[in-house]
Amino acid sequence: MQQLKSYITGKWLYGEGEARKIYHALTEEALYEVTTEGLPLIDSLDYGRQKGGDVLAAMTFQQRGQMLKSLAKHLLENKAYLYDISAQTGATKADSWVDIEGGIATLFSFSGLANRELPDDTIWPEDEMIPLSKQGQFIARHILTSRRGVALHINAFNFPCWGMLEKIAPTWLAGMPAIIKPATASAQVTQAMVCLIVESGIVPEGAIQLICGGVGDMFEHLDYEDVVTFTGSAETGHKLKSHPRLREKSIPFTMEADSLNCAILGIDITPEQPEFSLFIKEITREMTAKAGQKCTAIRRIIVPESQLDSVKHALLKRLSGVTIGNPAVEGVRMGSLINQEQRADVQDKVSFLQQNGCEILCGGTTKDLDVIGADSQKGAFYPPTLLYCADPYIHRAVHEIEAFGPVATLMSYQTTEQAIELAIMGGGSLVGTLVTADALIAQEVIRKTARAHGRILILNEASAVESTGHGSPLPLLVHGGPGRAGGGEELGGLRAVKHYMQRTAIQGSPSMLTSVTKQWVRGADVIEDPVHPFRKYFEDLLIGDTLLTARRTVTEADLVNFACLSGDHFYAHMDKIGAAQSLFGERVAHGYFVVSAAAGLFVDAAVGPVIANYGMENLRFIEPVKIGDTIQVRLTCKKKIKKTQKTIEDKPNGVVEWDVQVFNQEDIAVALYSILTLVERREGDF
Ligand code: NDP
Repeated sequence: MQQLKSYITGKWLYGEGEARKIYHALTEEALYEVTTEGLPLIDSLDYGRQKGGDVLAAMTFQQRGQMLKSLAKHLLENKAYLYDISAQTGATKADSWVDIEGGIATLFSFSGLANRELPDDTIWPEDEMIPLSKQGQFIARHILTSRRGVALHINAFNFPCWGMLEKIAPTWLAGMPAIIKPATASAQVTQAMVCLIVESGIVPEGAIQLICGGVGDMFEHLDYEDVVTFTGSAETGHKLKSHPRLREKSIPFTMEADSLNCAILGIDITPEQPEFSLFIKEITREMTAKAGQKCTAIRRIIVPESQLDSVKHALLKRLSGVTIGNPAVEGVRMGSLINQEQRADVQDKVSFLQQNGCEILCGGTTKDLDVIGADSQKGAFYPPTLLYCADPYIHRAVHEIEAFGPVATLMSYQTTEQAIELAIMGGGSLVGTLVTADALIAQEVIRKTARAHGRILILNEASAVESTGHGSPLPLLVHGGPGRAGGGEELGGLRAVKHYMQRTAIQGSPSMLTSVTKQWVRGADVIEDPVHPFRKYFEDLLIGDTLLTARRTVTEADLVNFACLSGDHFYAHMDKIGAAQSLFGERVAHGYFVVSAAAGLFVDAAVGPVIANYGMENLRFIEPVKIGDTIQVRLTCKKKIKKTQKTIEDKPNGVVEWDVQVFNQEDIAVALYSILTLVERREGDF
C-alpha cells in the first residue's frame, strides 16, 4: 500500500515502522498508510525557523500578500486534481467546494487585506503615536514584528484544505513558517495541496512542512517564539494544551474544539412567516452539509414550545427527502462520514444522548439505511438524525456531547429568557443563529448570549437573501469561541495575523520612532527641500519630506463665497446674531473651507507625478478659524506603500500618506489630518 510521504527539511520522506491506514470513506478500501517513525521531526523545527523563517521575516507585508495571491491563483488552476482526491473522503462536490475553494478564497482575502492595510515593511506600527509628555518629545507606539519560531498547525480531518489554508494565510502574512500536521483520516487531501504548494515554487523553502502521521516528541523541542494551533476534539486539545513545555516556555496555544452550536427560533415566528421556512432550511443544510462533520454545524435547535410540533414536522419532512449515497451519483445530497471509526463514534454519542434524556425522532441507526450508488455498510454512511430532548434543563448531555455527524437535538422554551439560558448552557460555542423578525428580540438575545459565542447570525427575510449562512466561517470575521469551543480565535481579518506576531511598546523621541517605524510622526525632524514634494516621484520622496506653505488670511468674502458655492449656510458661518450666541461667539469659517483652502496652499498645480488624491483620514478641527485669521499649512510625507503594477498598461505607482497640519497666526493647530495620494513610480514591475 502506498505510504503518504511527509515533507520535512526540504525533502519528501517516507517513515518506517508501524503505520496507520487511511480508508476510502465510501468503500472502506485501505488507500494509504502513514507513519513518521524515523523521520527527522525535531530537525523540522529549526529548519522551519531558520530556512523559511529567515526569508519570510525579511519579506515585507506587501510581498507576503502578493505571495498569497499568486499561490491562490496557482491552486485554483489545479483545483480539479484536489476535487478528485477529496472525493475519497465521502464529500459531495459542494462539500469539497467549501474545503478547496473556500480555503483558496481565504488566501485571496488575506492577500487583499495586506494590499489595502499593511505597510511595505517588516514592522507593523499597530496604532498611531501615543503622546506621553507635555513638550511632545517623549512618545510611544505599539509595533508588531514577526515571531522567529515556527507555527505548528494540528488540524482536524473535516476540512483538510480549508483548515490548513485558513491558518497558513495569517501565519505567512505575519512572516512565520508553518508545519502542518493534518488529521490522519484525510491527510491525503492536505498532502495533495501541499505538493501543489511546494511544486509551485511560490513559497520560500522552509515556509511549509508537512507531517503525515504523529508528531513524536516535537512538543518537547518547541520554543518560546513558536506557536501551536489545534483543531479537533476537546479531549486531545486539552491533553496537548497541558503539555509542560507550553507552560514552561509560554508558548501560545490556540484551540478550536467541540462546540454545541445552537439555532434559536424567535418567539415571534409562526409557520406563516417566511422566517419559519428559513429556519427549517438552515437547520437542514447545517445537519447535512459535510454530513454534519462541521465544527460550526447546528447541534441544538431551540424553539418556542408553541411551535415545537410545527418545527418537528417540517424538519422530519425535509430530512426524509435527503438522498444519501455516493456523491458521484446524480441527485445525492449527502455523502458519508470520513470512516468507520467516526461512524462508530457518532453512533456511540447518539446512543449516549438517547440514554440521557433524548428521544430519536428520525435516523439514529445505520440498520436498513437507504443508500444510493454505494454499499451502506462498507461506506461510512450515517442518516440525518433528529433527536428531541423534553427536559433540556435537567439533561446536560445535550449541551455537552457533540455527535460529529448529521445529528441535532430539538428542545423547546417558553420565554425568551429561557431560550437565552439554553443557548448559554452550551458552555461556549463557535456560532449561534437567531431567526427572528423582531428587532427587540434580537437586541435582547444578542446582548445576553454574545458572551458565550464567537459569532452570531441574525437571520430574517431581509438578511436571508444574501446570507452566507450559519456554518460558514468568513476570513474577515472571528472564528473561534469561548469555553467548550476552545477559547481560541482564528480568522477575524488582521486580528488573525497578530496571533503570530510579537507586540512591543516602543518609547522614545518622535525622530527616533520615525526612524524605527519608517513612518513620520508629529514632532519628528522634517526634511526641507526646495523641490515641491508633489514634483517628486514615489522613489524620490523621503519620509519626513516637508513643505511649509505660504499664508492666507481668511476674509468675510471667503465665508460668503464658500457658503454660496457649497450651499452650506449654517448659522455659525453666516448668521452674525446666531454665531454671536454660539460656542464661537462670532462667525467662523466652514471646516470644509479650511480643508479646501489648505489644499489650495499645498498643491502644486502643474502636471506631475501625483496621480490622484483618494482620501482623507483622521480629520479633526481643533480650533475655530475666524474672519481675519491667517492660516498656513505644513505638509509632510508620513508613509509610503509601494503598489504592485497589475498590468503593463497601468502606471506604476504607490500610495503616499501625507500629514497635514493647518496653523493659525499664533502657531496653534486649527486642523489636523492625513491625505492619501497615488504617486507615480519611475520604475515599473514589468
Ligand atoms: P482528534 O482530536 O483525535 O484529532 C485532531 C488532530 O489532533 C488530528 O490531527 C490528530 O492527528 C491530532 N492528534 C491526536 N492526538 C495527538 C497527539 N497526541 N499529539 C499531537 N497531535 C494529536 O480529533 P479527530 O479528528 O479524530 O475527531 C474526533 C472528534 O473531534 C470528532 O468526532 C469531533 O467530535 C471532534 N472534532 C471537532 C472539531 C471542531 O472543530 N469542533 C473538528 C474535528 C473534530 P491524527 O489524526 O493523526 O490522530
